[in-house]
Amino acid sequence: MGSFFNNFKRIFSSPTASSNDNFVSINVKCQRCSEEINVKLRKTSDISRLYEEDNPPSSAAYFVRKEVLGEKCNNLIYITIYFDENFNIAYKEIKGGEFL
Ligand SMILES: [Zn+2]
Repeated sequence: MGSFFNNFKRIFSSPTASSNDNFVSINVKCQRCSEEINVKLRKTSDISRLYEEDNPPSSAAYFVRKEVLGEKCNNLIYITIYFDENFNIAYKEIKGGEFL
């Protein structure tokens, strides 16, 4: 009984946000109004697997291209990010803003 509840507690107190298994979290800043925007990239839908024929930058295994819109202005921010096997950023590019 006791260990059952202890296990439960561990599940619910596990780390969230940037260390969440299903998301990669990126912070960007709008070039026009300086708004800081947190972008959550879903590994299962936003991020695509790369293949040899895609000619990826060295060590890149995953790829995402996304348009980000803040709440304070209508400036669109375009991000392109390549990740390695462990979802560490291997290469990144941004237009309309900057990475934080
Ligand atoms: Zn803005």
